[in-house]
Formats: sequence, C-alpha cells, structure tokens
Amino acid sequence: MQPWRRVCPEGLEVRPCGGADVVKGNGLFTTRALEEGQLLFQEDPVDGMALLMFDEPNRENHCQHCLRRFFGGAEVGCPQNCGARYCCGVCRSNASVHHDVLCAAANPHWADFEQQARECGNEYYLLAARALAADGSESDAWAAWADYAAPPWWETMRRPAYSDSSASCTGEHSSRSSSPVFDSEDKASLDRFFRDAVRSQTADMALLLQRVLECSAPGVESLPAKELSAEALGRLMGLVRVNAMAVVAASDDLAPFAASSESGSSSQDSSEAPLARGMAIYAVTSAMNHASDANCFVASDPSAPQRCLVQTLRPVVPGEELCINYLQGSHYTEEQRREVLQQQYNIH
Ligand SMILES: [Zn+2]
Ligand SMILES: [Zn+2]
Repeated sequence: MQPWRRVCPEGLEVRPCGGADVVKGNGLFTTRALEEGQLLFQEDPVDGMALLMFDEPNRENHCQHCLRRFFGGAEVGCPQNCGARYCCGVCRSNASVHHDVLCAAANPHWADFEQQARECGNEYYLLAARALAADGSESDAWAAWADYAAPPWWETMRRPAYSDSSASCTGEHSSRSSSPVFDSEDKASLDRFFRDAVRSQTADMALLLQRVLECSAPGVESLPAKELSAEALGRLMGLVRVNAMAVVAASDDLAPFAASSESGSSSQDSSEAPLARGMAIYAVTSAMNHASDANCFVASDPSAPQRCLVQTLRPVVPGEELCINYLQGSHYTEEQRREVLQQQYNIH
C-alpha cells in the first residue's frame, strides 16, 4: 500500500509560516490574488479518515466510509460479514485501505481495540488506528503526515474541571466556572496526574493496537511486527486530534437535509436539526491554521457530509496565508474560546 499524498490546488501551497510564530508550523498560502466569496477548492477526507461519533444513535444507518445516510438502494456490506455497511461498492473499496486489517470478523484483536476506544469515549483512537493500518508501517505513516502538527496528545488534553457539585467528568469543553478552589500547587499536581493517566491509557491502547496490526487477515499482507510505543501512538493521537475537523451528516429518515450555507457545526445545537456529528481529516483543509479574523471559511453539505468546500470571506493578496476560524459557528463564551484554542490547538 502506498501512503497518501497531499496535492494542493493550483495557486495554493502548504509551506512553513516562518517568522517568530514557530508554533504554527505549516500553513496554506495563496500565490495569486483572490476575490471575496471565491470557491477555492473542495475535497474529500484522506481515505478512511472520516467517522461518526460513537454516541450518534443512528450511526449504523450511515455509510461507514462517506458518512452519508442510507436512503435505500445500493448498500453493500463488508465481505467478511463484520457488520460494516457502505452506501456503494466504491465506498467499500476505498474503505478497504484500513478495513482489510481493521475488520472485527477478520481480526479478533480489532474488536477488543474498538471496544476499548468506545469505553474511553474516544474516536481519535479509531482514526489513529486507521492512519497506521492504511499506511502500512509507522515510518511510512509518518512520511505522509510529517507536515502536520503533532504534539503528543496528553500535552494538548485539558484536565476536566473537578467540582464538588458534579461528579461527572464534563470533558475538555466544559466551563471552568464551577471549579472548586485549588491552590496552584494542587492544580499542577492534578494536571500531572491527569496527563499520566492519559499517557498510561495510551500505552494500553498501543499494546492492543500492536496486536491488531500484527494479526493479518487471510489474504492480506502482514504488517511488519514492530513495537508501537505509547509515544508514537500519543503523537499520532495528537495529530488526528489537532487536524480533525467537525462534519455533520443528514440523519433525517425521509429526505436529504437541505444544503446549509454555513459550517455544519453551527446547526448541532438545534434539537430539531436532523444531523449526526462526526469528524474527518483532510489533506489540504487540515493544514489550514486558525485565525479569529479568518479570510476563509469551510462550508459543507450534510447530504454529502464527507466533502468540504473552502471559500474566501474577503479579497486576499498573493502570498497571504489562508486561515479559517476553528470555532466558526460554535457558541462558546470568549473565555471558553480562549481555553479550547489554547488547550486543543496550542494557540495563545
Ligand atoms: Zn458511502
Ligand atoms: Zn469487516
């Protein structure tokens, strides 16, 4: 299997941002002048790098490759009968880049790994596994992903706010307003404890995933037996976490959801919107950096959830970096925005 390669649309290039802002790494730049409202490109995710969230109630009614809702017709199942279903033979064939290895019917260890990822409530483990399975070996995977930001993910995880009033872990996007009073030493030690716990969970998952990758399905080339370290999986987790973009799929029973002119994530708060949440990684779009005054935005059509369209918001001069607002359409307060950007993307 050949690792995927990024192909930039004409007139656009991914290159280091340079300057004092080394944290940003690479960004997407234009070599020509652009007008306001111009459609720059549209793209599908890197093969296999799209999925619906675990807790979407009707996820089995969506194609496991392109995330489209089944509306009756040409659905096809995994030939090994693991239960995976696709909207058409093309999606099934494209999904085989990882599914040949990551199939519960062909590979007994995969069911264990998937179950663990579910119990952790963490879809990024599946994306990381797909990246490794699709690219054949760790070093090849890194050749394809080398340009993308990838801090070990425990460094980008936000410790949940512990509170007397609520025993539940509210996760990284919760407000801190209900935090109890800790002095800074307590906080530092809680942070350390949390990171150690994430790291140790990653080490367990790395062991499971190594077993998956070593166990080849009948007729499939065996992957090289190689130790998958917690650090390597941690970096891959960081990579998929920082580069994954939210997607939504129409989940209405009757008709495809009408195309939305704004970003998909904006509609998910409405209880009436028949949308299923997911995530995807794109070769070009995922290389774009965040700006609060972004000159571009990402649009998507929930009836073709895998495809994203990047458009300009204002005129852009040659050489300018093209940025999007990562929190476009979200309903965070200013403080929550700052925290999410800082914790998840290391943007200050
Ligand atoms: Zn499909
Ligand atoms: Zn299967």
